[in-house]
Amino acid sequence: MIRPFLTFTLLTALAACGGERPSQNLQSMARSGPAATAVPVSGVVSSKSAKQLFGYEPAPSPQRSEPFGSYSKGCAAGNVQLPETGPTWQAMRLSRNRNWGQPTTIDFLQDLSRKAAQQPGWSGLYVGDISQPRGGPMLTGHASHQIGLDADIWMLPPTSLTRSQAERENISSISMQRTRGAYVNDGWTRQHHEIVKAAASDPRVARIFIFPGAKVQMCQNESGDRSWLRKVRPWYGHHYHFHVRLACPAGAAGCIDQTPPPAGDGCADAQDWVNNILNPPPPRPRDPDAPAPTPKRELTLNDLPGQCSGVLASR
Ligand SMILES: [Zn+2]
Repeated sequence: MIRPFLTFTLLTALAACGGERPSQNLQSMARSGPAATAVPVSGVVSSKSAKQLFGYEPAPSPQRSEPFGSYSKGCAAGNVQLPETGPTWQAMRLSRNRNWGQPTTIDFLQDLSRKAAQQPGWSGLYVGDISQPRGGPMLTGHASHQIGLDADIWMLPPTSLTRSQAERENISSISMQRTRGAYVNDGWTRQHHEIVKAAASDPRVARIFIFPGAKVQMCQNESGDRSWLRKVRPWYGHHYHFHVRLACPAGAAGCIDQTPPPAGDGCADAQDWVNNILNPPPPRPRDPDAPAPTPKRELTLNDLPGQCSGVLASR
């Protein structure tokens, strides 16, 4: 299989947290409260970039919880907060106010943190960015994480769950990669394998993004059931954290799932990616007749699903 390596490289900066190909899958979730509806968008609001509108919202919408749109073009009604500290987790970088997600995401993270806490040397999980209070595009960072169904989990094994707010701003995760992501380094342990495996084995999870060398390492080390490896997708970056993407919850009619990963464990594909890192293919000659690439325009509210204006307006 030929990986479109160079094309992907061009997309890297924009898609740092997971490429996506939306498909239709519509499932459901129920929480009481008013349903989100579309409200008219004024000319002023519609011309403002969506990240300006969503990036300063301090609190979630008082609506029934529901994700709208796709992972990289959407918003989230009724997000709930991952408590800053729990028995088996701490949310990191609290100043970003991104410890918000759909109820299924928050439940999942707490469940996974309990499993992580059973691993030697891990008292739980350090959880990085989830979503903004109302989801949507962010002023800095991710292209995805817009509908409350994506979460970043630090690779750093938590040795303390009593870190202060200041510590959580200042400590850093640790990189697990060697040779530009082709291999794991000495920081990688069986515990990382087991935690990623637990996440991928959870039926709520659609995909996990992690650097190619880690996927290949897990492919080599897994001697039992390999079906979970299908959800573990090699991607750029993702060596300080891995990224968990949940599927649209059942009944969430406005939520657009990504096309499922191809059948199989994906290990040969990950090895191809590693080979491309180690021996990059020569750049393809540029087609002189090709149109100039159009610069990516910032999303406006009009680019997002209609319900997102209601999510913003709800007080
Ligand atoms: Zn991410």
